[in-house]
Amino acid sequence: MKVFVRLLGVLFLLFTALPGHAATPAAPSALPAPVPGRLTVYFLDVGQGDAALIVSPTGKTVLIDGGPPEAGTRLAARLRELVKGPLDLVILTHPHLDHLGGLPAALKAVGAKRFMDPGFDHPSEAYRALLDFVGREVGQVMTPEPNASAPQTLLTVGLGEGVSLTMLWPRMPQEPFLANTRSDANANSIVAKLTYAKTSFLFTGDSEPPTEEALLQKPLDLTATVLKVAHHGGKHSSTAAFLDRVAPQAAVISCGVGNDYGHPSPEVLGRLGDVHARTFRTDQDGEVMAVSDGATVTLRSSKGAASTVSVSGSQRSGSPVALGPIEPTPAPRSGRAVEKEPEPGGTPKKPKGATTAPAPAPTNTSEETGQSFVSLKGSKVFHRESCSTLKRSKNERTVYTRRSDALRERRPAEDCHP
Ligand SMILES: [Zn+2]
Ligand SMILES: [Zn+2]
Repeated sequence: MKVFVRLLGVLFLLFTALPGHAATPAAPSALPAPVPGRLTVYFLDVGQGDAALIVSPTGKTVLIDGGPPEAGTRLAARLRELVKGPLDLVILTHPHLDHLGGLPAALKAVGAKRFMDPGFDHPSEAYRALLDFVGREVGQVMTPEPNASAPQTLLTVGLGEGVSLTMLWPRMPQEPFLANTRSDANANSIVAKLTYAKTSFLFTGDSEPPTEEALLQKPLDLTATVLKVAHHGGKHSSTAAFLDRVAPQAAVISCGVGNDYGHPSPEVLGRLGDVHARTFRTDQDGEVMAVSDGATVTLRSSKGAASTVSVSGSQRSGSPVALGPIEPTPAPRSGRAVEKEPEPGGTPKKPKGATTAPAPAPTNTSEETGQSFVSLKGSKVFHRESCSTLKRSKNERTVYTRRSDALRERRPAEDCHP
């Protein structure tokens, strides 16, 4: 593919605090309501976790993650201030507690019309409880699955006035989830790009270096005016190659004051400095509000330095995020030393709730052969029930009576070709 090196016009307008203002610390929720006719993104202060609210120029709302459980009450109160009516879409980037813990309180407070998560199985009680809650309370439950009739495209959600939110990862079932990473739950975070004319935002969840590698290999316009930094600024993510491609003018790190993980890492702060991204962090700046008029994004924070930063967007206006057909990513290199990260959450329990099987499969009598299909816990594939692979494993299993049901959640195994 031909590579265009574009000179990005970088414009930093630093408005220093007015005399007399700097001494008065702003109240934590002093940031104003969404601006009608503008795209507003709030990076909400939820301590050690993530939560961002998108309000489109026409008032469409998307909440990406809901912070940890202890942030639920505050998040719910803030959403009541900012949102009228139920959220149009709630995205859980991945099933970790610091992203989902506050969602039940938030959803009880304002409601939601749609819920999307990667469909990546996770055994924690909190995730199962959330799926149960969402199954009862939210109308539509979905995954970022590409349109079946156009599998080489990306799922895009229109938010009015030309604002769109495009899901870059994961792409199940067209591509398998990333596996054998430091944290597969993190690595399969929903990565989404929000575009409004020349300005754009990239939301990365807790994505891992293999996620970044996979995205870099695709014909995608990854540039973003504002980057929501992956994994709270953890040192492994936000690789130099990825930041070079994204070329963020501003970056927001969501993390808690004095958190146990040392987030954000000096390494990531250094790499963001290398690409000259003006960096905000919720532990120091509190809530961060970014307002786009389609050409410029103006960021300000509820505390910290009383400054406003305006950055100019360089998104090719009107161009799609995908620069060509999206082919499956080659399998990750093997032999990589994998340093596993402890997964937050409880002990393994029964597999999978409502998310990946939102609707009953159409009955297909030709499949009613009496043969069942079986998937082992944690596996991305399913087998014939007679397959010898199953006999070797004591893992918990999911049994599908219809192949079409199995196919919706997993790939056919290579050994028994079910
Ligand atoms: Zn996290
Ligand atoms: Zn995580």
